[in-house]
Amino acid sequence: MSLTRDEEQMVALVRDFIDQRVAPRVREFEEDDVYPEEFIEQMKELGFFGLLAPADHGGVDVSMECFARVCEELARGWMSLAGAIGGHSVITYLIKTFGTEQQQATYLPAMADGSIRATMALTEPSGGSDLQAMRTHADPVDGGFVITGSKTWISNASHSGLFGLLCVTDRSAAPAHQGMSVLLVEPGEGFTVSKKLPKLGYRGVEACELVFDGMHVPADAVLGGEPNRGWAHMMRGLEVGRVQVASRALGVGQASLEAATRYAQERESFGKPIWKHQSVGNLIADMATKQQAARLLTLDAAQKLDRGERADLEAGMAKLFASETAMQLALDSLRVHGGYGYSKEYDVERYFRDAPLMIVGEGTNEIQRNVIAAQHIARNKI
Ligand SMILES: Cc1cc2nc3c(=O)[nH]c(=O)nc-3n(C[C@H](O)[C@H](O)[C@H](O)COP(=O)(O)OP(=O)(O)OC[C@H]3O[C@@H](n4cnc5c(N)ncnc54)[C@H](O)[C@@H]3O)c2cc1C
Repeated sequence: MSLTRDEEQMVALVRDFIDQRVAPRVREFEEDDVYPEEFIEQMKELGFFGLLAPADHGGVDVSMECFARVCEELARGWMSLAGAIGGHSVITYLIKTFGTEQQQATYLPAMADGSIRATMALTEPSGGSDLQAMRTHADPVDGGFVITGSKTWISNASHSGLFGLLCVTDRSAAPAHQGMSVLLVEPGEGFTVSKKLPKLGYRGVEACELVFDGMHVPADAVLGGEPNRGWAHMMRGLEVGRVQVASRALGVGQASLEAATRYAQERESFGKPIWKHQSVGNLIADMATKQQAARLLTLDAAQKLDRGERADLEAGMAKLFASETAMQLALDSLRVHGGYGYSKEYDVERYFRDAPLMIVGEGTNEIQRNVIAAQHIARNKI
């Protein structure tokens, strides 16, 4: 499949935004570690928050393949900018796909123009991998729900006007996932963004703890209107999320590769450009090959979603391979740069700090391997 002309233009627009506006100032923004309002405002104007929203609700409604390429370009400039639209895009997709007409009319136009930014809240202090053991619950009270519990590591939390909260709505359900719902929660009484967590990279975008202390929400906060269907909804959303994280990894990998390719031609030792030393040349060859493989896996998963097919296996493979590749490429690029790779004067040290997030986020790579193995066996039963 290929992109439409409009989609190609969108990718080109993002590339220009990164090269012209972001690249010259990214080190200053990342050093400050404050939410990059200026870039976010520009991203709103350029329509990046509405990439997955339907056109009749004010969105751009691009294909998943285009979305992946846009996210790669953003992350090539600064992974945090792709992170700023990560959870937001998953929640947009969930509301577009499973939301009631009222939920779509209420949220999608404001999400498309970025005036409401959304995030997804799954992880709890007691664990992010074992989601079925989650404790945050919403009990039915007076025709609505009362939410009690806490979430942690929630990206963009202080700047979000909408939380796609996965929580338990039927505490007696067995297995537990049959009693879970996604609630669309707006900040209000009984809700606190309690703590901003210090972290290695992914600077500018905050990750926070959330506390729900007997917060009341109406019954129509349940995504799709019908409770206890949230697990299936969120698993579908995570397929999109994993393609997004794979695309972020592609961006970091591409930036690492480009930096190494440039430096290996500029830097000389023993009377020749360092890439002509076989060890360095081999590194560059392996980097370029792995990056291409990661891209093809990611686009394959995106295309499956575009065809409306189940893509948990493919999205898991793309996320696993692209994130491990980004980490390897960041390290190899640092190697190619010698001592300068360790210096704050070059961007490579940032790639090295940003890459690990994609290994951990949206389900760790160990969890991806579990998903891939289970799906692979299920599709190849003897
Ligand atoms: C910067 C940042 C931003 C984040 N943003 C969000 C967000 O917006 N929303 C959100 O909901 N979450 C977010 N997360 C949380 C992230 O998704 C979790 O950290 C991740 O899912 C892992 O959960 P955990 O940290 O509790 O690790 P644990 O689940 O405690 O896992 C610890 C280790 O054990 C391994 N492990 C656990 N169970 C198994 C198993 N069955 N098989 C093999 N290995 C296993 C894991 O792979 C990992 O290596 C974010 C995290 C970070 C660091």
